[in-house]
Amino acid sequence: MPVKVTPPVPSARAEVHLWQGSNARCGPDDTRVLSPAERERAARLPNPVAARCYVTAHAALRRILGGHLGTAPERVRIGRGPCPLCGLTRHGPPVLAEPGCDLTFSLARSGAEWLLGIGRGHALGVDLERVRRTDVDAVCRAALSDAERKALLNCGHRPGGCPECFFRCWTRKEAVVKAWGAGVSADLRQVEVSAHRPGPVLVGHGTGCGARRWWRVRDLPVGSGRHAALAVPADVPVRPVVWRYWPG
Ligand SMILES: [Zn+2]
Ligand SMILES: [Zn+2]
Repeated sequence: MPVKVTPPVPSARAEVHLWQGSNARCGPDDTRVLSPAERERAARLPNPVAARCYVTAHAALRRILGGHLGTAPERVRIGRGPCPLCGLTRHGPPVLAEPGCDLTFSLARSGAEWLLGIGRGHALGVDLERVRRTDVDAVCRAALSDAERKALLNCGHRPGGCPECFFRCWTRKEAVVKAWGAGVSADLRQVEVSAHRPGPVLVGHGTGCGARRWWRVRDLPVGSGRHAALAVPADVPVRPVVWRYWPG
């Protein structure tokens, strides 16, 4: 059965809508609304759980955006904006490529689950991670500043650091680099997120051209065994609103 969506959309700069879902109800109608490039990408994913999640998440994104635009989901144009570090669109952030529409979005997937943030007129980034076995030490070296590593290893919950603190730190960083648009090109060690402090936190980072950018980052309640964060520009006072989409 096709899922008919008439989504409420953010009506002002002060609202971010959050949609959480899983791959439980993936069907042929989901694949049908994807673009050829999205279908190819899903087919290339080696893990079938992740591939189903990719399909359901992107189908939901298209239905939600299409519902607002009054456009069939398969006709919604999603492109890439310029990378803020090098200007190339090849690896820039995904954007809605519809003239005159100021909706912005950020989509995150982890295992069988996804999280989508939709805003209006401002950048935003979300990240979702299921707590899982991770080589914390190796990831810490690549992604955490010296101060963050020290704070994590001495978090006091468990000798050598605990997964909760690690994933809180990680999701905050990912949310910021996705809001910024730099994604994998960003040096995560330069994005300090005060993981030892409860959110929301203010996070500043260099932009490669001498300027500093500031974000307000909050941890999101997405259920036990998961962590999620939302980053929005520090000068936009945002109230997130959460809907559950396709429960199961
Ligand atoms: Zn780049
Ligand atoms: Zn801890």
